Amino acid sequence: MKSTHISKLIISICLIPILMTACAQKTSKEVNQTGMESNFVDTKGAKFDKIHKSPEEWQKELSKEEYYILREKGTERAFTGDLWDNKESGTYVCAGCSLPLFSSETKYRSGSGWPSFYAPIDAKYVKEETDRMLGIKRTEILCNRCNGHLGHVFEDGPKPTGLRYCINSASLDFQPLKKPE
Ligand code: FE
Repeated sequence: MKSTHISKLIISICLIPILMTACAQKTSKEVNQTGMESNFVDTKGAKFDKIHKSPEEWQKELSKEEYYILREKGTERAFTGDLWDNKESGTYVCAGCSLPLFSSETKYRSGSGWPSFYAPIDAKYVKEETDRMLGIKRTEILCNRCNGHLGHVFEDGPKPTGLRYCINSASLDFQPLKKPE
């Protein structure tokens, strides 16, 4: 056997486990009839069903501003939202599907005019996508359950993560912490 044939054989054998792993990862995700992912699992192993709705359904449920920001990737003007300066203790949930996304414990004063957090409640509750809309590369943050646009994440946040999750107020609903009676 020629040495080139031997090399090809070795490469082929080496590729088998890589291909098997890739296939296993692909089949481990559950998808619905239209090919969209139907669920996700958080960092503690809890399973969540994804929410897929038509633009018409979202329009019925959301205000005009919420629809523009959550479903059309809009951005509210800085210092105009109702939550950028909120200092109450509680949970910030997705305005589209009520998934708890951020805690007041990770909210900080960034001076940006948008609610800013250094971490989500669970890394799997949000997902990241590359955004080149303004001609610059940014990392978009979306709700992992309803795919609603939340904002962007930047690497100029405080410790312990060094991240700044810059989120639109309109993408969030605030649930204040219940005080003991
Ligand atoms: Fe959501």
